[in-house]
Amino acid sequence: TLELALDSAGPEWAELLELARQPGVCNLGQGYPDYEGSSVARAAAAEAMTKSDMSLLNQYSFPSGSKSLQGAVCSYYNKHYELKDGATKRALKPENVLITIGATEGLFASLRTVAGPGDEVIMFNPGFLWYVTTIRLAGATPVMVMLDGPDFAPDLAKVEKAITPNTKALLLNTPHNPCGHCYTKQEVEGLARLARKHNLYIVSDEVYENVTFGDAEHIRIADEEGMFERTITLCSASKLFSLTGWRVGWALSTPALLKGVMVHHMNMSYCAPSPLQHGLAVALEAEDGTFEGIPKIVEENARILGDALREKGFGVSQPKGGHFLVADTSGLGMKGSECARFLLKEAKVATVPGMIFFLDDPKGAGGEDGMGAVDKDIPLLRFAICKRRDTIDEAVRRIRAMN
Ligand code: GLN
Repeated sequence: TLELALDSAGPEWAELLELARQPGVCNLGQGYPDYEGSSVARAAAAEAMTKSDMSLLNQYSFPSGSKSLQGAVCSYYNKHYELKDGATKRALKPENVLITIGATEGLFASLRTVAGPGDEVIMFNPGFLWYVTTIRLAGATPVMVMLDGPDFAPDLAKVEKAITPNTKALLLNTPHNPCGHCYTKQEVEGLARLARKHNLYIVSDEVYENVTFGDAEHIRIADEEGMFERTITLCSASKLFSLTGWRVGWALSTPALLKGVMVHHMNMSYCAPSPLQHGLAVALEAEDGTFEGIPKIVEENARILGDALREKGFGVSQPKGGHFLVADTSGLGMKGSECARFLLKEAKVATVPGMIFFLDDPKGAGGEDGMGAVDKDIPLLRFAICKRRDTIDEAVRRIRAMN
């Protein structure tokens, strides 16, 4: 299993990032904002780092997080989410919050908590490239369920078919990276029903929770009946406040489940950086995760880029949320990786080929006979849209100018 994990897309990813950061390249590759992250959070963190009477904020926090950030996270979720019909009202308390080193550490620790050798974890394909490696590093086996365009909604019948007596957990992600689908209330209810029926844990990556477009809404599976006890929800200040380099996130769950996450967290990193936790606590109280209207800007970026790509012959399914837009490259007669190379060379626009998110499946992605049988190079291309308007305008100008 470890060998399989080592054979991950990590090196390929690193290589793509290098290419995308070359001078003159318009970088719509890795999903990080080029606009400024929360100035409230940065100012408060800077103060904590430099003022003598705040010097203790530069020492260890509790491993579960600073009291102020745990409290701010609770009040944010308790006031932010109106519960929909059938959802159970549950106020988060500090003991339901564990501050992690980004959602990445939370994901790793959560999967190791709910699954181990001999267990299967169901995930979706395409999906964020870390998932498959993380499941394997937990010693478990990833089982893929394909998402189909144009909307890439999860097919509940396919999910149920993939469940075996060894299935321990479903790894969910809404809004979805890379496809931009947001689970509907009906889908969340369906997934919750399956989890209850087959006694499964849920690890729910909701890092793009605040970025939904039009009438799409973010619906949390942990709020469904009987789900809080079996769900670990992962969230991130990287996305909420555009501070991806701060590496602060949080896992929300019951004290019983968080105990397992905590053991891993304490042994890997002990606690998240204290002055940054302070900055985020101040920002959460002040800005509510919608600071400077970022979700609106990203939504508008999706529209502008989507229109330009359609004109050029790409098939675009407009995202419902998140930081990405995926385009189908078949209309241009190219596979995803060829098109990514083409755009980088001809337009100096960096993207990420869909195959990076199309993950190797030991049980056979879409077939019994393994990856050998399927063409991994799917005709999809991912564009990061969490960028300044002028970056998107420049990318669009370059793409339009191509022959
Ligand atoms: N979530 C980001 C993306 O998909 C990257 C995260 C990472 O590189 N660790 O682009």
